[in-house]
Amino acid sequence: MRPTGLPDAIRHWIGGTLLDSADGRTFEVADPVSNTAYARAAAGGAADVDRAVAAARAAFPAWSRLSNRARATVLHRVADAIEARHEQLAEFESFDSGLPITQARGQARRAAENFRYFADVIVALGEEAFRQGEEQISYVVRSPAGVAGLITPWNTPFMLESWKLAPALAAGCTLVLKPAEWTPLSASLWPDIFAEAGVPAGVVNIVHGIGEEAGQALVDHPEVPLISFTGSTDTGRHIIRSSAQHLKTTSMELGGKSPVVVFADADLDEALDSVLFGVFSLNGERCTAGSRVLVERPVYEEFARRLAERAAAIRVGPPSDPATEVGALVHPEHYARVMHYVDLGRKEGRLLAGGTRPEHLSGGNYLQPTVFADVSRDARIFQEEIFGPVVAVAPFDTEDEAIDLANATQFGLAAYIWTSNLSRGHRIAHAVESGMLWINSHNVRDLRTPFGGVKASGVGREGGAHSIDFYTESKIVHVALGHVHTPRFGARS
Ligand code: NAD
Repeated sequence: MRPTGLPDAIRHWIGGTLLDSADGRTFEVADPVSNTAYARAAAGGAADVDRAVAAARAAFPAWSRLSNRARATVLHRVADAIEARHEQLAEFESFDSGLPITQARGQARRAAENFRYFADVIVALGEEAFRQGEEQISYVVRSPAGVAGLITPWNTPFMLESWKLAPALAAGCTLVLKPAEWTPLSASLWPDIFAEAGVPAGVVNIVHGIGEEAGQALVDHPEVPLISFTGSTDTGRHIIRSSAQHLKTTSMELGGKSPVVVFADADLDEALDSVLFGVFSLNGERCTAGSRVLVERPVYEEFARRLAERAAAIRVGPPSDPATEVGALVHPEHYARVMHYVDLGRKEGRLLAGGTRPEHLSGGNYLQPTVFADVSRDARIFQEEIFGPVVAVAPFDTEDEAIDLANATQFGLAAYIWTSNLSRGHRIAHAVESGMLWINSHNVRDLRTPFGGVKASGVGREGGAHSIDFYTESKIVHVALGHVHTPRFGARS
């Protein structure tokens, strides 16, 4: 269903003005149900990024000098403006990305919450002081790092944009955002939201475009000292290499292949609900998806069978239908990639559910949630991020084997552990190489906690004070309180 109010052109937003690309180029944007273009978006290049960075630099002195309280007030108004557009935002997001509408609504709420949360963080934030007896005191001064470059992916686009915009603005940075080219629609709502909230022109600038052009120009720009990137591991590696030229600070939130470890003593009903939601919500296009399910041998067959039964019963359908649990995958290219993994899986594992498009959906990027059992550790569907509704299941016999299997990929973003033996739960949580772990729970976030991954899943942490650390530079000022002893070089007496 086409939402009302769809724009037919999506433009850059630079210095408070909607603009076409300097060279007039555009690209087509399609929805994942009809796979036909509904709009054209401006295709940014180096000249557009230059204009955006200049606008952000011009806006920096005034914005960065506002008190934390004043910026927090503006951030709360941004949250109000998001909430006022809640339904339109969810409809746009669902239409453009294929996320089920009920889940898109949840993401829209989270976007507003991110602004409220970082408004509160910045007001509560203190700075540290260190006293060395009566000799000297040292204190930290934080200042915003400058013009931030934000580059975001197409899964939950608006929410992930807000996850970077809110702390960057709270910290006093001005910025240039480059949204993902497959899903630029919801970002077209930001200009009105920021204008309504009274964010001064030039504080936020948005340049649309292809990653290798607009994104790369932002990464290469000498006046953008920091890049916050969320996306695939390969692109992250490339951005780190490019950033080295200007020694930029980077934050990398990258891919995952997160394990769920289910012991026989777990509450298996709860574990099953959690596994299903963890890997099939957001169409499986979720960085923290529990896409490898490791099950202790005595309950393995039964758990795999129940998982498959439930997966086969999941309602796949139009993203706009409130009954839909899994919608359409974002883009035909991504759909083909996921289907390629499904074909591989037929050779590498035992297909228990899904594997094909549901019969009632002849067009659109739909896949019935897919379960492969008996997947070995060197299988590609065990090792590689599929980023779709596909799960690999494997048995284990001992705690050590569970840890070994959990750690057997290049990734380390999230891990989920199900057991009624809490000592074991903690032991495993400490042994699994992962930035975030949940014991007997699913992906419930607390915005104060560090978010990020180890190994190929990322570099650095965002969330809470970690985000503010990223967007600010800390300076230490040392002051003598009394006499500070100095060796007297050259003094002869
Ligand atoms: P992607 O790496 O293809 O693209 C991400 C963004 O980078 C897009 O805006 C793209 O235009 C841009 N880009 C591409 N090439 C670039 C370049 N050379 N220079 C600068 N920018 C460039 O990723 P995607 O396919 O959009 O997103 C899916 C990936 O994101 C998955 O791997 C997923 O796990 C990951 N992800 C991670 C997290 C996390 O928090 N760890 C969250 C969501 C998604």
